[in-house]
Amino acid sequence: MTVPLWKADALQALAPGTGFPGAQSRPHGTASSVSDRLFEQVRRFEAALANMSQGLCMFDAEEQLVVCNHRYHELFGLPAGSLSFGMTQTEVCRVLLRNGCYPAGVTLDQLRLGTLTALGGETGQPVLRELADGRVLSILYRSMDGGGWVSTFEDVTAQRRSEARIAHLARHDGLTDLLNSRTFREGDHALLRPADPKRPVVALLSLDLDRFKFVNDTYGHALGDELLRAVAERLRMGVRPGSAIARMGGDEFAILMRARSEAEVMARAQALVAAIARPFETSGGFVEIGVSIGLETVRGGLGDIERLILDADLALRHAKASGRGQVRVFDPAMSESARLRRALESDLHEALATDAFELHYQPLVELAGDRIVGMEALVRWNHPERGLVSPATFIPVAEEIGLIVSLGEWVLRRACADASHWPDEIAVAVNVSSMQLQQAGFAQTVFETLAQTGLAAARLEIEITESAILDESEATARNIAALKAAGIRFAMDDFGTGYSSLSYLRRFPIDKIKIDRSFMKDAETSADALAIIRAVAGLGVSLGITTLVEGVETAEQLDLARAEGLSQVQGYLISRPKPRAEIEGMLRAAAAPSPAAHRETPAGA
Ligand code: C2E
Ligand code: CA
Ligand code: CA
Repeated sequence: MTVPLWKADALQALAPGTGFPGAQSRPHGTASSVSDRLFEQVRRFEAALANMSQGLCMFDAEEQLVVCNHRYHELFGLPAGSLSFGMTQTEVCRVLLRNGCYPAGVTLDQLRLGTLTALGGETGQPVLRELADGRVLSILYRSMDGGGWVSTFEDVTAQRRSEARIAHLARHDGLTDLLNSRTFREGDHALLRPADPKRPVVALLSLDLDRFKFVNDTYGHALGDELLRAVAERLRMGVRPGSAIARMGGDEFAILMRARSEAEVMARAQALVAAIARPFETSGGFVEIGVSIGLETVRGGLGDIERLILDADLALRHAKASGRGQVRVFDPAMSESARLRRALESDLHEALATDAFELHYQPLVELAGDRIVGMEALVRWNHPERGLVSPATFIPVAEEIGLIVSLGEWVLRRACADASHWPDEIAVAVNVSSMQLQQAGFAQTVFETLAQTGLAAARLEIEITESAILDESEATARNIAALKAAGIRFAMDDFGTGYSSLSYLRRFPIDKIKIDRSFMKDAETSADALAIIRAVAGLGVSLGITTLVEGVETAEQLDLARAEGLSQVQGYLISRPKPRAEIEGMLRAAAAPSPAAHRETPAGA
């Protein structure tokens, strides 16, 4: 075979010591212009080969190596002189294998087959090969006219790593490195396939942290993020390897796991609750939070993951509603109540738009003078099909969907407008939800309402619950301060049903305590209930706070309230909540001051 000069030289230049004559020294006695041009061309070609960032080798029609550059040796980490011109491709592959270039297990046949396939397919697509040291080469094969082929080799390790990184980021949550919601919802979790007959139960857990918002708002987002990462770590440790854990957003997580039984799932969920309840040591000190879990299980395959997520979320809502740190398993009844709720929700929106609400009023009676001193506004909803729906049913829903803000404004406006027609000594008490108090503009809304209706601030009493006061938000504190400064009074509603620690009295000096009607109901039989009534009455006297007991239904209860020294009463004995027209008639008749005069006969109540 004749060896063209440039072939030999290229090999020699890049694999020094192979014994081919060098082209750098111009051959003697061939000083023709043709060979000069050839010589020049070879030099250029050589420079190009030597400076390529890619490795290159060329095999001729007999599959023998005819060109191979220095970069090729470098890429494979081959010592100089390992390859020589004329070697067959099989021999070259052997050298590569012998030098440990490819990971253990790669065979000569595989390499040969790879090349042949790439050439046969002529896809023009590079073939990726992983080297023993973990680097990845992208190899492009191209056949030449007249037989043989050229292959180029490129190190794409960095590119591949950043691609892998990007792919990872696209599938994971940046903060916790758990799966992200989208990936989780794809339900394409390797753990669930193939099905594991020993663990037939697939469980989807929906988790929501308790108190996280408080911690985040109080200590700042940096600590919040730190806490979320720590939570993710505890979740990882709390599940079997192979379970899928995702951060679904904010402080919500989800876990997909396999288990031997439903009981095992429950035990694991409880263990997670316990794990998250342990204090977290953060850069800002120890922090305590909790987690509530809703879960749904299926046997066999995963099935429809979206449905599982919905069910688990619904169970989670029930868990949340029954307090912190609870685990609830989905129950079909939950769907039914959710359906009813959704119906209620849309009806509520409709009701507000169509003015389907009205206010009833219930008298507040001062025991000292036996006279009506105020009216509590209680909202009523006249539902086209369901009839009168109790506020105890729809107020919580309105609160949850945020509708309470506009409904509350409507109640306030209506109540103030009605009360502006009543005698000056009659106050109006309006129930206000904590969500309303959290609105930055709430105090302003109240002031505007008073101005528009002409009701004096001193005639408005706002009833709030303990939860509103315990909510330590800035906006609530500002609203209460502004309203109090304007002379509006505050009553603590449903006293005794919540935390019942009066420590907040110092922070938000309230004007009235309304003892929940359950205490009046029990007062005659329960010493505890009576003791609470007595204690509150005493506290009222010493702090100068008005005390009222709700739910007075009998003359005996009225006597008891009087005997215990409470300032006011409210209840069916005096009057049920009634529409405005009836209440106004009652006020006109109230010239006679004895509460007995306002009494309904208990039988009619
Ligand atoms: P609440 O503020 O404790 O209102 C007193 C509730 O006790 C009223 O129920 C009233 O009808 C009932 N009640 C009054 N006297 C007696 C009695 O002698 N015996 C018995 N068994 N019950 C009596 P209602 O009107 O069904 O209201 C339930 C709850 O709905 C209210 O409890 C209040 O928390 C909420 N609510 C009502 N109207 C509004 C409103 O406009 N805004 C807000 N945020 N909540 C409201
Ligand atoms: Ca009330
Ligand atoms: Ca109450």
